[in-house]
Amino acid sequence: MQQSTVVIRSRRVVLPEGERPADVLVRDGRIAEVAEHGSLLAGPVTDLGATALLPGLVDTHVHVNEPGRTEWEGFATATRAAAAGGVTTIIDMPLNSVPPTTTVAGLAAKRAVAAGQAWVDLGFWGGAIPGNTGDLEGLHREGVFGFKSFLAPSGVEEFPHVQAADLEAALAEQARLGALAIIHAEDPEVLEAAPQVPGSHYSDFLNSRPDDAEAAAVAQLLDTARRTGARVHILHVSSAAVLPLLAQARADGVRVTAETCPHYLTLAAEEVPDGDTAFKCCPPIRDESNRDKLWAALAAGEFAAIVSDHSPSTPDLKLLRRYGGSGDFAKAWGGIASLQLGLPAIWTEARRRGHTLAEVAGWMSAGPAALVGLTGTKGAIAVGRDADLVAFDPDAEFTVDPAGLHHRNPVTPYAGKRLTGAVRTTWLRGRVVDTAAEPFGAQLRRPH
Ligand SMILES: [Zn+2]
Repeated sequence: MQQSTVVIRSRRVVLPEGERPADVLVRDGRIAEVAEHGSLLAGPVTDLGATALLPGLVDTHVHVNEPGRTEWEGFATATRAAAAGGVTTIIDMPLNSVPPTTTVAGLAAKRAVAAGQAWVDLGFWGGAIPGNTGDLEGLHREGVFGFKSFLAPSGVEEFPHVQAADLEAALAEQARLGALAIIHAEDPEVLEAAPQVPGSHYSDFLNSRPDDAEAAAVAQLLDTARRTGARVHILHVSSAAVLPLLAQARADGVRVTAETCPHYLTLAAEEVPDGDTAFKCCPPIRDESNRDKLWAALAAGEFAAIVSDHSPSTPDLKLLRRYGGSGDFAKAWGGIASLQLGLPAIWTEARRRGHTLAEVAGWMSAGPAALVGLTGTKGAIAVGRDADLVAFDPDAEFTVDPAGLHHRNPVTPYAGKRLTGAVRTTWLRGRVVDTAAEPFGAQLRRPH
C-alpha cells in the first residue's frame, strides 16, 4: 500500500550538509524533493515548527534473540523500541537466537519468524564460527550484510569463538566473497591472565576485562586482515587503546572501520553503582578519561558509526538485586539494553560537548548506512532515499522509566537518568509508524 504525496516542513531539517529550514516532499515512500521552507503546496503538509526532522537512524548492531531466546528479546518488541527511538533500520546480530545465523537454514528460520512482526526495516548479519567457512558463500548469496566472529568466548555455547586458524580461513573466504567481517575483539589469553574477582564491585569487573584485551585482539585481527586482504570492522570499541592501532592500519592501507556505542560515550565506570549489573557489557564501560578520548576520536572521524549493541536478557540472568539476584558482575549476563534510548543519550552528551544534530545524524544514520552499503536508500534526507524520517524535539527533557520502554524486559542502565531530546514521530518509507496498528517493516538484503 503506497500513499500519495505529503510534505513535511521543519525549521530544522537535518540534511547531509547541515541543518536548515526546509520542506521535504515525500512521494510513494521516497524523498522526492527538498525545497525551501514554506514553498511546497502539493498535498497535505505536516508542519513540525521548530521540532527537528532527522533521517531515520540505522542501527547495525542489535541482538533480537528470536527464535530460541525470545524471552530475552523478540522482533516485535525490539522493532517497536527501535521505532519509538527513531531507529528505522536495524541489522540483527547472528547470535543469541537459536539457531544462530551461521547457516542458510538458520537465516531462513530468522526470516520466517520475523515476517509480519517488524515495525522497522530489518536486515541480518551472518556468523563465522569454527567449521562453517563452507556456509559463508550461501549466506552471502542470501543477502546477509557480512559475518560476525568472536575472538573471545561469546557467552553462548552455540556460537563459539574463532582461533587464529579459523579466523584466517574465515577472512580469506570473506575477502574472496567481498564480504564485510565484523569482529568482537577481546583477546581470550589476556582475559584469562587478568584478575578474576567475582562479586558486586564494578572495579573488580573492570579489572577483569583490561584495555590490553581489546588492543591485543585488534592487533591480531589487523595482522590477519593485512594478510588476507579482508575488509574488517571492529565492533563496540570500548578502549581508546585501540585507536592508534586503527590509525596505523589505515595509514598502511588496511581496510578497517570501527564503531562505538552510546554506553561507552555517555556512561563511565566511576558512576556505576556496585551491584548494578544493568551496566555490565563486554568490553566494559571504562573510565571518564577514556570516554573523553572516544569523543575526541569520534569528532576526528575515526569511528564509522555509533550503534546500540542492544543485547538484553531476562532480568534473572542479569542477577539484578531488585529481582532478588546477587548483583555479581562476573556471573551476570553481559549486555546493555538501550535500543530506544540511543538518540537522546547521545544527543544529551553531544550537545554538552558542543556537537550538532547534523553530526549526530552522521554518526547514527549516514555512518552505519554506509557501513552496510545502504546509502542508496537509507542514511540521509536526500532526494531518492527512502522517506525514513524522525521528528525529534532537541530541547525536550525526560527521565528514563524502564517500564515505559518497548523492549521486552524493563532493564536498562539509563533508568532514572535525565535525558534531552524526544522522538515525536517516526516515518518509515513515508508512513507514520503506529505501533498500535499493523507493522510494515521490510526485510532487507545486502545490495550488490
Ligand atoms: Zn553485540
